[in-house]
Amino acid sequence: MPLSYVNPTSDSPWGTYLTQVDRVIPYLGPLARWVETLKRPKRTLIVDVPIEMDDGRIAHYEGYRVQHSLTRGPGKGGVRYHPDVTLEEVMALSAWMSIKNAAVNLPFGGAKGGIRVDPKQLSLNELEKLTRRYTSEIGIIIGPQQDIPAPDVNTDAQIMAWMMDTYSMNTGATATGVVTGKPIHLGGSLGRVKATGRGVFVTGREAARRIHLEIIGAKVAVQGFGNVGSSAAELFGQAGAIIVAAQDHTGSIFNARGFDLSLLVPHVKATGGVAGFAGAEAMDNESFWDVDCQIMIPAALENQITAARANRLKARLVLEGANGPTGSAADDILADRGILVVPDVICNAGGVTVSYFEWVQDFSSFFWTEDEINMRLDKIMVGALRKIWDTADQHQITLRTATFAVACERILAARQSRGLYP
Ligand code: GLU
Repeated sequence: MPLSYVNPTSDSPWGTYLTQVDRVIPYLGPLARWVETLKRPKRTLIVDVPIEMDDGRIAHYEGYRVQHSLTRGPGKGGVRYHPDVTLEEVMALSAWMSIKNAAVNLPFGGAKGGIRVDPKQLSLNELEKLTRRYTSEIGIIIGPQQDIPAPDVNTDAQIMAWMMDTYSMNTGATATGVVTGKPIHLGGSLGRVKATGRGVFVTGREAARRIHLEIIGAKVAVQGFGNVGSSAAELFGQAGAIIVAAQDHTGSIFNARGFDLSLLVPHVKATGGVAGFAGAEAMDNESFWDVDCQIMIPAALENQITAARANRLKARLVLEGANGPTGSAADDILADRGILVVPDVICNAGGVTVSYFEWVQDFSSFFWTEDEINMRLDKIMVGALRKIWDTADQHQITLRTATFAVACERILAARQSRGLYP
């Protein structure tokens, strides 16, 4: 029986995830017996988050924390603040965390949280109250050994500091390991902020090498110029690529000769978006998908590469910095057109990998250098991608299905060994 509490469609996030799981069943052998486990989140918590606003009103927000799987270790995954957050979206994001963590072989299950709110409408004081009340409400299921939140869309190190403090005050002991992505002076890890973008670059570099795409001089388009998109763009720029187009919630910009990132990055920090950047022309949002480029990096939200856009894309390589940016129908079109997709569940795993390093450093109270972190990150991402590539070659399947095959096998083998109890 399908779950009664969500109504997925073929291109909604949970629907997309279910299709991805169905595609992997033929490669699971006898472990396929356990596959239904992956189609049901272990634990789903919905909380009311009431706060007193600066003007005295009492406002209520809907919050979620979904623990999709705790089979391979504690839950792990970010918390997203966005007005369009829904339970169904958080379920899919939590499931993609299970796959991602298993694909990179981190000792974690998968979880995700979110609040249905536009944080840009809140004062700093209201944002702090929202974060603290939400943390208290989900406090019954999170913890350094239970479930470890982290930043995601519209959440950052300050929000993690408030979460860590609230959890610590409520439990009576300083627990730095309850969240990752914290400020450096509070048990955060060097390299964490840029880790997701770095992972996008590392997997992109490896994929480009395999398809004989020269990075020097390659044209790159980036959707989303937040933490992930901007860091990936900078690393590609340093490697000799030309960033010709960028799009975010403020608009789309284009420059055939490439942006000067040393000017664009501060412009985005100062104004909140790419729109109005003096070193580029404004461009129509839909035309962004027609831009002449070799590498497309969707690093914003879900379902951006629709079937129609997949038919028009000029790139040879798509690097999924975002979670779930490509719908299943679009995925098939890209595969048919010979456009290689490095899927989210490996491409953007750099963030959670350095979150894992942060969690380990917090437990051992011994901190690594940034070089050490970047080196270990590179090694883990390259090794994980190699195994996925071999699996794809062996079965003649896409990198996405191969990543699911590697990850689901790990999750379900653990499930089988643990057995059903009680
Ligand atoms: N939000 C990030 C992701 O989607 C990082 C999660 C984490 O570090 O736990 O992978």
